[in-house]
Amino acid sequence: MLCSLECTRTRRTVGVAVCRPVISRVSENAARGPIIPPHMHIEFSGAAREVTGSCHILRVGSGTKQRTVLLDCGMFQGRRSESRAKNAKLPVPVDEIDAVILSHAHIDHAGRLPYLAAKGYKGTIWCTPATRDLCAIMLADSAHIQEKDAEFLARHRSEFIEPLYRMEDATRTLELMVGMPLNKWFDVTDGVRAMFTEAGHILGSASITLEVRDGTEFRRVVFSGDVGRCNLPIIRDPQPPASGADVILCESTYGDRDHESVEGAREQLAAVVRETAARGGRVLIPAFAVGRTQELVYDLHSLRRDGKIPDIPIFIDSPLATDATAVFAMHPEAYDHNEELVRQAPNLFDFPMVKFTRDVSESKRLNSMHGPMIVIAASGMAESGRILHHLRYGASDPRNTILVVGFMAEHTLGRRIVEQRPVLRIFGEEVPLQAQVEILNGYSAHADRTELLAWLRTVREHGVADGRGRPHVYLVHGEHEAQDAFAAQLRGDGFEVSIPSPGDVVSL
Ligand SMILES: [Zn+2]
Ligand SMILES: [Zn+2]
Repeated sequence: MLCSLECTRTRRTVGVAVCRPVISRVSENAARGPIIPPHMHIEFSGAAREVTGSCHILRVGSGTKQRTVLLDCGMFQGRRSESRAKNAKLPVPVDEIDAVILSHAHIDHAGRLPYLAAKGYKGTIWCTPATRDLCAIMLADSAHIQEKDAEFLARHRSEFIEPLYRMEDATRTLELMVGMPLNKWFDVTDGVRAMFTEAGHILGSASITLEVRDGTEFRRVVFSGDVGRCNLPIIRDPQPPASGADVILCESTYGDRDHESVEGAREQLAAVVRETAARGGRVLIPAFAVGRTQELVYDLHSLRRDGKIPDIPIFIDSPLATDATAVFAMHPEAYDHNEELVRQAPNLFDFPMVKFTRDVSESKRLNSMHGPMIVIAASGMAESGRILHHLRYGASDPRNTILVVGFMAEHTLGRRIVEQRPVLRIFGEEVPLQAQVEILNGYSAHADRTELLAWLRTVREHGVADGRGRPHVYLVHGEHEAQDAFAAQLRGDGFEVSIPSPGDVVSL
């Protein structure tokens, strides 16, 4: 039996005819007249050929029995007007969505969930307990940003837009979220069950294995979520799903390069702090408030204990990071208990010299203080948040260092800093970039190409052992260059690989 007219080849496993995955466009299907609806398929909606807006639509069954499950429902980021239009377009009408499964709390994965709630979604959003608790603060923060943006545009440009969602929508979203532990199957909806496994990317992050059934047909789909790295501070190492897979949706953010080691990054961090302090400057670190900030605090804690950095003040200038740190403290079940500091320090994030600033007045006071210090502030790509104030005051001082510790997407201020543009535009002002710029790739929370390849090989090995054969890999969550390079490498390793574009549909 063919699952769609596009499907021309079949293979046979354990007595069930199954279709090879093929890419077809919904629009192409529509143009070819009546078709047998593919009964198990995935549509790539977001983070297809780009890194933000993660959202994949799984459909199982047909007619009134069709079930629709979203994997993630993330926010598109980047150029403002463009992403606003993309964010306002729902991936699927909400009354068609039976359930959502969320890989982790980052806004590019969870950020549009309140928009679903605002539009009337009342189904369950499955995630891990730590992801749920992180979402409590991150979605509220995101709602706050939406509301403030709308106010700003109304006031300064007489442009009247509805915020994508409001605080009450973020709150309603939380009521829909159900936390499930790792490594246990749970029923998602008719014909779909799922299991989370450790993704090692941020606290609570998970890869998702889906078991999809339609009548006698049965497929396993693995969605990597964002895959982390071994030896990242605090959190455990990624654990590739071991249940076998017919299809793998794999992130490819860094599919074209290898990172420095995590240990090397820690040493580099120490060197940057020492050198900047010796110049009397500040280390300014744009960092995601959730995850990266806690890792940095943890590593600075460890470096200070070992006497590798001088005693200079460390300011975590972000109310969101302060709240996120409290959530980290609530979830020791997600820590890596093989790490010495986790085992030995009673409080990982509280030690002499570290100060969490919550008030705006405290934050502003930092600009008039003298002497070396470390300032960690959001946002991670320096697009908004308090880091902008610190960069406006600090980017032109050659004693300072701007330390880049994360991925900077195209069209962000962070990317312009990485490119070392001579002049930055911050709050409409031109600021010469004279501070040192240091880039620590070792802090990436994303696996590099070697780690991603190892992760995929492990998933494949389990599949072969399980009698499921060789999975087809769809690369998501990556920019063109990284994806093309990684696809070529994977093909060289014997994988069948496709890079779907937004709107592409594949039969399982
Ligand atoms: Zn992420
Ligand atoms: Zn992501």
